[in-house]
Amino acid sequence: MADTKSNKAVLITGGSRGIGRAIAIHAAKASYDIIFSYRTNLDAATSLYDELHALGAKAHGVQADVSTEAGVIRLFQFADEATGRIDSLVNNAGNVAPSSRVDSFSAARVNDLLALNVLGPILCCREAVKRMSTLYGGRGGNIVNISSIAASLGSPGEYVDYAATKAAIDTLTKGLAKEVANEGIRVNAVRPGIIDTDLHANSGDRKRPFKLQSLIPMQKVGTVDDIAQAVLWLLSDEASYITGSLLDVSGGR
Ligand code: NAP
Repeated sequence: MADTKSNKAVLITGGSRGIGRAIAIHAAKASYDIIFSYRTNLDAATSLYDELHALGAKAHGVQADVSTEAGVIRLFQFADEATGRIDSLVNNAGNVAPSSRVDSFSAARVNDLLALNVLGPILCCREAVKRMSTLYGGRGGNIVNISSIAASLGSPGEYVDYAATKAAIDTLTKGLAKEVANEGIRVNAVRPGIIDTDLHANSGDRKRPFKLQSLIPMQKVGTVDDIAQAVLWLLSDEASYITGSLLDVSGGR
């Protein structure tokens, strides 16, 4: 029977910094219990934990590398023990590699990106569906995958491999949405444009967002709050007839 007394719980991968952190804060303000994962940055995770508690939220952070199956399983076991329920999953953790042409890619670089940006989200979806689907006695749920507008643009000369991993996320979103539509689960994706986060330092230029501002039709870089608001809306009942959708939040790009 559904427990109507407890808050809904959202699991956010890579919640400690950037877009994931903003999603966690917006979710806390919307009265969700929060489970978030991080990879290595304990200071950032601790400061988010403190911020969520100051907002009055029940929050749980865990170190779990979601580019590995063992990390994904550990994350969901932690969530089971921490909250006993997972109503929503936000597949947010992801990364880019240094800007480069395809003819310079190493197999190791591409494998690392595939593990974090594709394998991890697919395995997180597997674990979420096992807990949410009415087929398994679950109460339904919601999945939002963080893709990228790069999936459509292709990111030539920067990171075509990253763009390809996000195209895989778009296809995952559409296919899984149809697979579980009649099992109480909605699956959607948000496709951010250029957002001001530390991610860009990993491509080799932390100032990249502002250097590319003129390419954005709205002529402004997006904020983490722009993305978090779209995610929270997709998770809400206001979006209850929406599944399999890719929502571009990119200033028109
Ligand atoms: P970010 O600022 O670099 O933050 C990344 C977060 O993910 C951190 O909390 C990091 O943890 C965590 N993380 C990284 N690798 C992980 C792993 N293996 N296991 C678990 N957690 C891991 O990145 P962001 O810009 O917020 O990006 C978030 C998502 O948005 C990504 O999927 C990205 O592709 C997508 N996106 C971003 C932009 C943009 O312009 N920023 C545009 C389109 C799409 P630590 O703190 O421990 O490192």
